[in-house]
Amino acid sequence: MNDADVRGKCAACKYQNNICDENCPLAPFFPSNKVDEFDKVIRLYSIDTLINMLNSVTANEEKAKMAETLILEAKIRYENPVYGSIAVIEKLNLEIEETHKELDLVQKTTAFYKELGERSSLNKKNEEISTSSTQRQDVKKDHNF
Ligand SMILES: [Zn+2]
Repeated sequence: MNDADVRGKCAACKYQNNICDENCPLAPFFPSNKVDEFDKVIRLYSIDTLINMLNSVTANEEKAKMAETLILEAKIRYENPVYGSIAVIEKLNLEIEETHKELDLVQKTTAFYKELGERSSLNKKNEEISTSSTQRQDVKKDHNF
């Protein structure tokens, strides 16, 4: 019993009604439980294009990352057929812009209160100095008796 028999047909071989053997190029990336993901990817790319793209990189980690990216791209395109990932990028750019504005406001508010606090402590010191000098003058007056 080979590996493909144990895990069953991969999603691509199920789709094509092929026999899935250990040489199946899509089996590692589209196991039998990823039929839905494979279906979405295949709506966007043909099987030949998919295999060519996966063969364009050599390392298995890169192939896995590419398959993951294609699945994500296909899922986003399925959810938003008109704009696809551009809609996600635009939404995130708007969030970044709004967050920058909020950060700017928080920094200005913090600077305002910091300056207010510095002025307040400076005024307190000035009051202490003027109070203590008044007290010294009072003491001098007392000694003049
Ligand atoms: Zn297969």
